[in-house]
Amino acid sequence: MSLADRLQAELDDIAAAGLTRRRRVLASPCGRIVIVDGRELLNFASNDYLGLAGDADLAAALADGARQWGAGSGASHLVSGHLEPHEKLETELTAFTGFARTLTFSTGYLANLAVTPTLAGRGAAVFADKLSHASLIDAMQLAKANGAAIHRYPHGDMAALEHQLAASTAATKLIVSDTVFSMDGDLAPLPQLLQLAERFDAWLVLDDAHGFGVLGEQGRGSLAHCGLPAAERILLMGTLGKAAGVGGAFVAGSATAIEYLLQKGRAYIFTTAAPPAIACALSRSLQRIAAGDELRQRLFAHIARLRDGAAGLPWRLLPSATAIQPLIVGDNAAAVALSTALWERGLWVPAIRPPTVPAGTARLRLSLSAAHTDDDIDRLLATLRELSGDSRNVC
Ligand SMILES: *Cc1c(COP(=O)(O)O)cnc(C)c1O
Repeated sequence: MSLADRLQAELDDIAAAGLTRRRRVLASPCGRIVIVDGRELLNFASNDYLGLAGDADLAAALADGARQWGAGSGASHLVSGHLEPHEKLETELTAFTGFARTLTFSTGYLANLAVTPTLAGRGAAVFADKLSHASLIDAMQLAKANGAAIHRYPHGDMAALEHQLAASTAATKLIVSDTVFSMDGDLAPLPQLLQLAERFDAWLVLDDAHGFGVLGEQGRGSLAHCGLPAAERILLMGTLGKAAGVGGAFVAGSATAIEYLLQKGRAYIFTTAAPPAIACALSRSLQRIAAGDELRQRLFAHIARLRDGAAGLPWRLLPSATAIQPLIVGDNAAAVALSTALWERGLWVPAIRPPTVPAGTARLRLSLSAAHTDDDIDRLLATLRELSGDSRNVC
C-alpha cells in the first residue's frame, strides 16, 4: 500500500463511520444572519458572543490600522515584529485584566502551547480537567515530551484533584483548566482551584476563551465573575477571536512568569507577530467590551429566554449559565438529523459528536450572541418544538 493509499484507507473509515467533516463557505461576514449556498441562515454556530466580529467600527479600526501600519509585522516579536500597536494592546490588556503583565499571540492555540510546556518540564507535574480543550491537551503532550508527569482528574472533581496533588512529589506543579468548558458551557470551580493551587504551591493555568468579554464586570472574564484576584500564581489565557470578535489571544500573569514566557516560550519566540492592524482592531474591541454592559445584558436575557422556553422540549439543556447552551440528544445519528432538519428550516446549529464529547452525549451546541433578537430565540425554540414531534422516535 502506498503512503497516500494508507491515508485514503483511514479517510474511508472516517466516511464509513459517518464522521467526515465538511466546511461550509460563507458568502457573508460573520453575523446573526449568514449566507451559505445562496440561503440565509440564522447563525447559532459562532463564538461571536457580543456580535463584534462583523462590526463596522472594528472593521474600520482594522482598515485604519492597515493604512497606518501596513499589512504585516515582518518578524517575530523578539526580532523586529513588535510594533507600537502590539505594545499598546499589551498595556491595555494588562490594565483590563488586572495582572502585572501580558503577552499577545496570534491564536489561543498557540498561547496555550506557549504556557504549559514552558513552565512544566522535567520534574514538574501537570494536573488537568478531563474535559480540557484540545489545545491544552496538546500543550500537555509537549510538557510530557519535556519530561513532565501528566495527571487528568474527572471533570470538576476537586476531591480527585486534591488527592493527586497530595500524592505528587513534583517540585513544580501546574493545575490547568478551562474556565468555561467549551462543549458544556459550565464553569470550573475557580475558587476551589485557586485554594488548591495555594495549598499545594502550584501554578494555576486558566483558559478563559469563553469567559473573556462575556463574564464579570465590564466583561473582564471568569476571575472577575467569581470575585477572584489576579493572583501571582495564576496565568490567564484569553482568546480574542471569540467575544472580542477579531482574532488572537493573550496570556496575563505576574511580571516574572510573563518575562519567563517571553524568554523561553518557543510558541512565542518562533512565530511571526500578528499583523499590527489586528492589534489596532483589538484595542478598539477592548473599549467596546469594557463599555458593552448592554450587549452582555442582551446576551444573558437570551440565555434565560432559551432556557425557559426549552423546558418543554424532549431534549435536555445542560446546566449552563453561559452563551454555550448544549442540547443533549444522545445518539450520534439523531443529533446530526436534528442539526440537518434545523439547517433545512434556515437555522444553523452544529451537532457535536464523539470523540469531541463523551460517547452517548452527542449534542447540539447552541451558541447565543448579543447580535440575536428575542424573535431569533423564539424561532429557534418554535422550530425545535416542531421537530420534537418528528424526532421522538429517533431518540
Ligand atoms: C477556541 C479555544 C481555544 C483556541 O483559541 P484560538 O484563538 O481559536 O486558537 C483555546 N481554548 C479554548 C477553550 C477554546 O475554546
